[in-house]
Amino acid sequence: MLKENRGEACNVEKCKAFSFVAASLAHPAVQAVDPAVKRHSDGVTVLGIPHGSDLFIQRELSTIVDKTKLGLEELRKLAWYHREDSMQCALLLLRYCAVPRFSHVLRALPPNIVATAAFAHHDAIMNCLSDLLGPDDPLFCRDETLAPTRDAAHQTAAAVAREQAALPLRLGGLGMVNPCSVSDAAFLGGWVSSLSLLYDDGGNPIHPSLPSNPMQSHDAAVERLPQIAGVRAAWSWLCTDLVTDEVPLGEPALCKLLEIDGLSSLAKAPLKTQRIVSHELAATAFARLQAPSSPLSQSDRVRLSSCAGYGAHAWLKAIPSTRLLMLNNNEARTSVLFMLHLPHPLLVHCPTQHTCYTMSDGHQSRHADVFGDHEMVCRNSDKLTRHNNIVRAIIIGSGLAGLSARLSNVLEMRRRLPNGQVDPSDQSKKQADLVVGPFSVPTHACNDTSLEILVDVCACHPTATTYIQNYALSGPGQCGAGANVIENRKIGLNKERLKARTGYAFNAFGAETYGALGDNAKNLIRDLVQEANANSHPTTNLYNWSASKFAESVKQLVSISLRRGIATQLRKAALARRNLEPPLTLP
Ligand SMILES: [Zn+2]
Repeated sequence: MLKENRGEACNVEKCKAFSFVAASLAHPAVQAVDPAVKRHSDGVTVLGIPHGSDLFIQRELSTIVDKTKLGLEELRKLAWYHREDSMQCALLLLRYCAVPRFSHVLRALPPNIVATAAFAHHDAIMNCLSDLLGPDDPLFCRDETLAPTRDAAHQTAAAVAREQAALPLRLGGLGMVNPCSVSDAAFLGGWVSSLSLLYDDGGNPIHPSLPSNPMQSHDAAVERLPQIAGVRAAWSWLCTDLVTDEVPLGEPALCKLLEIDGLSSLAKAPLKTQRIVSHELAATAFARLQAPSSPLSQSDRVRLSSCAGYGAHAWLKAIPSTRLLMLNNNEARTSVLFMLHLPHPLLVHCPTQHTCYTMSDGHQSRHADVFGDHEMVCRNSDKLTRHNNIVRAIIIGSGLAGLSARLSNVLEMRRRLPNGQVDPSDQSKKQADLVVGPFSVPTHACNDTSLEILVDVCACHPTATTYIQNYALSGPGQCGAGANVIENRKIGLNKERLKARTGYAFNAFGAETYGALGDNAKNLIRDLVQEANANSHPTTNLYNWSASKFAESVKQLVSISLRRGIATQLRKAALARRNLEPPLTLP
């Protein structure tokens, strides 16, 4: 018809004839077709999706996985290549290119058919992630060979880390989503797309030549068709999968989520069905991990909350198009290991015995851990680098918004001795403070636009004992509770006094080591966005690559600089413990 009506020819190379029955392929009408058209008797692949016998489908699916594995080999080479940002690039490629390679199959084939290949795909991804992080399989993806040599604490840590890595970024994970956990949602979403193309909202065909809606059929023969059986099975799995202690769901809730009455009206479900349902599934999985019944320890739960906080995962989205958004290989590896609470190789290979110098009781001998938890709170570790890095990031962010920001020594901020003199042992305030402004719009810190804002940057480790309590008090799923506590402490100490004596408005910028920002930090970023809009300034080349919004680019700047600071802190601590660098001593 194409040839006759429009003078076009079909590409016979790409045409296929398929039937399980040999007699059909031998039919004179098929024989009469151009011999270049290939004849298939076991199956045929259309738009990358195999159809046909089970054997054929499984063979094609494992071919897809094998191709992904070939690509992953290249990623491994990239990650260990001597380019400064190759690890960061490998992580981005893994998440954006390798993980989704299986997604189209999930939408088109029933979950029970893709299960084996989906498992193999996820296994290959996690193996690759583990190899990117270190040479000796830090995630224990190949336990059977290395397991006997590992201790129990490390085994547990790796099991939690694998679970965390599979969560989406917004829930504190690395976005290495397990296809087995989303296959039901994806297949249902694929069906919604097809049905909405062929049937109207009432479920009736949009053209008389179309068959009647299979979702409304009660014919046993139709219900037994593999695809129809598959979508019914996916539906009932989703009805049970979404049930938790906290979120009592089930079929009515799934219907409500998709705004339909049941499986028979699937044709009018929203086109974003896959997204809606898989978001809900991930949120349910996160709630399960946060619930009191969860197998995670309290500090793991707090860490997960902190990783899911505002701004925490911005560094994972940053594209190293400029030095400002780049992590070197050591920093990128350290950051992932730290976030997943896995042993850091430098800390593993240095003495556990460690002497802390504290102001109150002199020298104290302690056992340090291999995860970096002690280093985050130790008085001897370098907390200044991470502090100063965040300050620099805010200066750059303020510049992007068209504001001037500078460092200034506001002596009023120094801790005082009872006799009114500046306390010489106040280490934290030896650094210059950050002054931003004046803003042209009223800010969260101050309505008076004539005042400059003194920003006090502070960071805390949320799994330190006191902050774990703060998290527990603020209820489950509260991200950034630790940062809020230190912000409020700073504000309580300084705000009024500072304004009265020096004429600066005051804001605290609290960040947790896992990245969650406090409420005041969020507000400062919002103020910068307002200012950028007022100055019609959001036209820098900085966020063309990584971020589509101004706030996101500020979050990435802060997040990247915090990660760098913590990598430095851990490296210095490890070197000090090996006596390769003198420990920090108080004057
Ligand atoms: Zn210490």
